[in-house]
Amino acid sequence: MPSLLLLIDGLGDEPLAYLNDKTPFEAASHPLFDKVGEQCSSSCSVCEDDLVPESAGCIGRLLGLPKEALPRNRAYLEMLARGWDIADDQQVWRCNLVAVDEEGRLAAFNGRGLSTVEMAAAARSCFHLDEAFIFVFLSEYRNLLVVQRQKNGGGPFVPPPHEHVGEKMDELLAPLREGSPALAAFLQKAKERLLPFARGGCHYALYPWGLSVKQSLPSFSSLNEGRRGALVGKAEIVLGLAKAMGMEVREPSTATGDVDTDIFAKARAAADLLASYDVVVAHFNGGDEAAHRLDGRAKAAFISQIDSEFLAYAMTKFRKPFRIVVCGDHVTSSRTGKHGAGPVPVLAGVLNGPPLPAFRLASYRDIRAFLLEEEGKNG
Ligand SMILES: [Zn+2]
Repeated sequence: MPSLLLLIDGLGDEPLAYLNDKTPFEAASHPLFDKVGEQCSSSCSVCEDDLVPESAGCIGRLLGLPKEALPRNRAYLEMLARGWDIADDQQVWRCNLVAVDEEGRLAAFNGRGLSTVEMAAAARSCFHLDEAFIFVFLSEYRNLLVVQRQKNGGGPFVPPPHEHVGEKMDELLAPLREGSPALAAFLQKAKERLLPFARGGCHYALYPWGLSVKQSLPSFSSLNEGRRGALVGKAEIVLGLAKAMGMEVREPSTATGDVDTDIFAKARAAADLLASYDVVVAHFNGGDEAAHRLDGRAKAAFISQIDSEFLAYAMTKFRKPFRIVVCGDHVTSSRTGKHGAGPVPVLAGVLNGPPLPAFRLASYRDIRAFLLEEEGKNG
């Protein structure tokens, strides 16, 4: 029997007054998740107390990576997701398109106020600014910046922009400017190129952070008793992680990595993959994005939609019994917009077949054991 890990990024949250003191997950309508929950409804923290609550580490852990092999190199994985690689003497920054207010404060960690088309145009205006820096557009506000690797392979720590909205850009980027005058000059040129996009009291700028180098990861099957793993998703970090682990990766062209993604296309891909892979991961990024925008209602609506569109459709299309775990990777608070290390909902059971007697999954280890269990006995 194959297993489906339905991973809703940032699923954990806190009760919100405007949702009648329910979390977005509690406020959402999810009859199919509830059916799974009759078999196992629990919660756990994937990052526990030893990981930063970020997708790369938490999802890597759910895919079986031991702590010492967890990716430190998010931007590098995002390069892989786009089918690019870097040389050993290069390193790569994530490089958000951010909004900055008139006082020079970070107004948004993304290109808030710009449409998707405008964000792509803004990114294009930063191409070929300086031959020492390769600027790569990923999607929406997400970009990468490839630079020459420093001798020690390190670089300055720049605070993640989504954790520091409202703070002064000059102070946030000070370590980076001091470390590399050439990069500071590049950012200044980019800011000038982006001036035509200014509006509503904000201008736009590039914000490099999360520097990374080339890193190889152990394969999914070597970590999971020879099981073949596949993933459907859109968020670059998750696609890159799966590619680096040698998993089959499907990225529906109509998926977006946000709440407007093509849920049916992901369901079709997941149902196809369940027919030939042992463990299939379906990743949905929109819940995390909605929570970063402090929009608990949109997060709840997205969760409802995943139940009624993704799961309902995947069940009818695949038809045979499969194990399922519905869970999140970490908390993303719709009140603060920040990630947290607290528990996330975990539902598990069998669908399209006889339900299992009630059981509990109390940790990420239990989730992994459940996904790998009984292979070959019933399947
Ligand atoms: Zn997030």
